[in-house]
Amino acid sequence: MKIVLLGPPGAGKGTQAKSICNRFSIPHISTGDIFRNHISKRTPLGIEAKKSIDRGELVSDELTINLVEERLMQEDCKIGFLLDGFPRTVIQAKALDEFLENKGEKLDTALLIDVPKDFIIERMSGRRVCLSCGASYHIKFNPPNYEGKCDVCGSDVTQRKDDKEETVKDRLQIYHDQTQPLINYYKVKEMLSIVDGTQAINDVFKNICDILGSGNK
Ligand code: AMP
Repeated sequence: MKIVLLGPPGAGKGTQAKSICNRFSIPHISTGDIFRNHISKRTPLGIEAKKSIDRGELVSDELTINLVEERLMQEDCKIGFLLDGFPRTVIQAKALDEFLENKGEKLDTALLIDVPKDFIIERMSGRRVCLSCGASYHIKFNPPNYEGKCDVCGSDVTQRKDDKEETVKDRLQIYHDQTQPLINYYKVKEMLSIVDGTQAINDVFKNICDILGSGNK
C-alpha cells in the first residue's frame, strides 16, 4: 500500500498517519519529523531547513525531494509507505510519480483529510507535542493526563514554534498557494480520496479504513 496523505496543516494528518501505518504495517514517512530530527542533531541539512521552517516557509523542493527519495530507497519501503507532509508542491508530486514510475510502481491513493479553514487555527494553536518521543496532544480535544507532561514518556509537552498563531496564518497561506494545486493534480489522475476531517479522530479513521479497504494491496 503506497499512500500520500494530504490536508491543510492542523487536519490531523499526523494522528491518522500513525493509525493507518499500524493497521497496514507500512512505514510512516513524515518530512516534518525528518527535518525536526535533523534540526535537533544540528546536521547541515537541519541547519538549512531550520531557516525556512522558522519563517513558516517550505524547505526547497530540491532538498526535500532528495531526502524523500533516499528514504524511499530503504528496505522497509518495499512493502509500501505512507507519506505525510510530502508532496507539498506539484513539483514534488511529479518527482514522486517519476521516481515510482522508474521502479515500475505507482501510488495507490492520495488521501485528503479535508478540514475547513475556520477549524484550523483553533486546532493548531492548541496543538502540543512531546519533544522527546514525538507524541502529539491538543489542549482542548486531546489533552495529556497531567498538564504539560507527556502521557507516554513523562517529558515536557510544548508548542512547536511553527504552531504559533502568526506562523499558522503564514502556513495556511502557503498551503493555499502551493499545496492546494496538488488536490487538482491527483483529482485529474483519478487518484484522490477525500475524508471529512472535522469528525472525531476515531470516526475519521473508520472512514479512512473504508476507503483503503482490507489492506491487501
Ligand atoms: P509538518 O510537520 O509536516 O507541518 O512540517 C513542518 C515544516 O517542515 C513545514 O512547515 C515546512 O517548513 C517543512 N516541510 C515539511 N514537509 C515539507 C515538504 N514536503 N516540502 C517543503 N517543506 C516541508
